[in-house]
Amino acid sequence: MEKREELYSGKAKSVFKTDDADLLILEFRDDTSAFDGKKKEQLDRKGKVNNIFNAFIMEKLKEAGIPTHFEKRLNDREALVKCMKMLPVECVVRNISAGSLCKRLGVEEGQTLNPPTYELFLKNDAQGDPMINEALAITFGWATEDQLKEMKRLTYEVNGVLQRLFADAGLLLVDYKLEFGDFHGQITLGDEFSPDGCRLWDAKTREKLDKDRFRQGLGGVVEAYEEVGRRLGIQFD
Ligand code: 5GP
Repeated sequence: MEKREELYSGKAKSVFKTDDADLLILEFRDDTSAFDGKKKEQLDRKGKVNNIFNAFIMEKLKEAGIPTHFEKRLNDREALVKCMKMLPVECVVRNISAGSLCKRLGVEEGQTLNPPTYELFLKNDAQGDPMINEALAITFGWATEDQLKEMKRLTYEVNGVLQRLFADAGLLLVDYKLEFGDFHGQITLGDEFSPDGCRLWDAKTREKLDKDRFRQGLGGVVEAYEEVGRRLGIQFD
């Protein structure tokens, strides 16, 4: 496998071509950003921790029958993934109220959401990732009706798998964001699953162990990610 030129550099990861047109290399960097890139910092070890964390979760999802772009972890910071046509839609499931839901609706943080909610956002930094709906996504060609249906089904299926996995580790999966792509006609989970893109609370104390530690300036960000990993049985060294 030969690493070729950089295709794209996002806020926390870079994507490289390989000599195989169907495969890309994802590089997890230490860069951390929030509030549409307005708050930025380098957090030592974060790239490595997220790469290892993501590999563990993607393997669990694959075992559960979720189609993912993940092929294998190559080294501390890089993973090999399928090259997909990414859809510019972020799918969010919430089990407990937090974050933008509380701001938008004025509801209190920490309420159990039964049934879990499902929201769509447009992946567009310049517009601040605005909330959208299926009709808008179809009209503007961001995804087709069939693709949206499959993305919703898979996003909820991931909830079943990961809620259990985290609950067994004494953690609450509060909410998470998934991104999907089209791989030869199949809707396939892309991007990453790490504490950068989900909320995880200690089940007893409700201590935040995710990127909200960075957003809210609570400190101990990477240490919290490692604590989550330790509880899941992940080895980072
Ligand atoms: P909220 O809508 O409350 O800001 O986010 C809901 C969930 O999706 C949180 O777990 C949050 O981390 C994740 N999320 C939503 N948008 C983004 C994004 O653009 N980047 C990352 N890393 N996570 C996101």
